[in-house]
Amino acid sequence: MADNDANIPNGRTTLLSARKGEAIKIHGISKRFGSIMGVDSVDLHVEAGEFLSLLGPSGSGKSTLLMMIAGFETPSAGSISLGGRDLTRVQPNKRGIGMVFQRYALFPHMSVAQNVAFPLKMRGVSKAEIGPLVDQALSRVRLQDYGGRMPAQLSGGQQQRVAVARALVFRPPVLLMDEPLGALDKKLREELQIEIKTLHASLGVTIIYVTHDQEEALTMSDRIAVMDKGRIQQLGSPVSLYHRPNSSFVADFIGKMN
Ligand code: ADP
Ligand code: MG
Repeated sequence: MADNDANIPNGRTTLLSARKGEAIKIHGISKRFGSIMGVDSVDLHVEAGEFLSLLGPSGSGKSTLLMMIAGFETPSAGSISLGGRDLTRVQPNKRGIGMVFQRYALFPHMSVAQNVAFPLKMRGVSKAEIGPLVDQALSRVRLQDYGGRMPAQLSGGQQQRVAVARALVFRPPVLLMDEPLGALDKKLREELQIEIKTLHASLGVTIIYVTHDQEEALTMSDRIAVMDKGRIQQLGSPVSLYHRPNSSFVADFIGKMN
């Protein structure tokens, strides 16, 4: 294991070297919005390189949990560490985390290549290095010929693949995805599910994947955390959740195939 500084994807060496996923440890994390507990005392350990889904109905706290891991929401209580590093006081762009949102996530006034280059510019990577890294990231999502286009000239699926390239371009050890395929039709969703799984296998990155689609969670995940009312109601492999739900809530939610 490299020392802590080398785990911050903010410098030349880390950007150019292949990086493996890192473990995430979450202890007693809560987020209060006035009288509502958006996330309520969640403990969760995600293994290095694991594909873990947060599955639950709308309002169950999935996005809030993800935003606290990414650093865009401040927890009311609790702690999060990544690869053994406490993240509490680490700025979002120094956490080593890539993020993909459901939609509206590309900068509309920037070309595809400029969008993908953005996280590298934020991290002070030199112009000479940016070009090859952007090409490589776009190739990974099979959009190597689209760098000069504007986001509005791409289909929804292509735009989400650009968002994935942008999230991965600085080789973060952790990738967070918040309903990334939620706005796409079923066929495209299934294609992109396979692409995301292929990327996961080839990069070894740790992925936390938010979805309210039980079928998606069951087919893609190593483990699933089923959330309701700000809490993890059950955590386990797809097979164990499907065959041994611990409550009627989990049984109903998992059983409700689309
Ligand atoms: P999910 O992503 O599972 O749909 P969220 O994490 O978005 O759920 O929301 C969890 C709960 O926290 C909901 O009750 C939601 O209304 C509330 N919430 C989320 N963000 C805010 C906010 N910025 N202000 C007030 N309440 C919020
Ligand atoms: Mg959400």
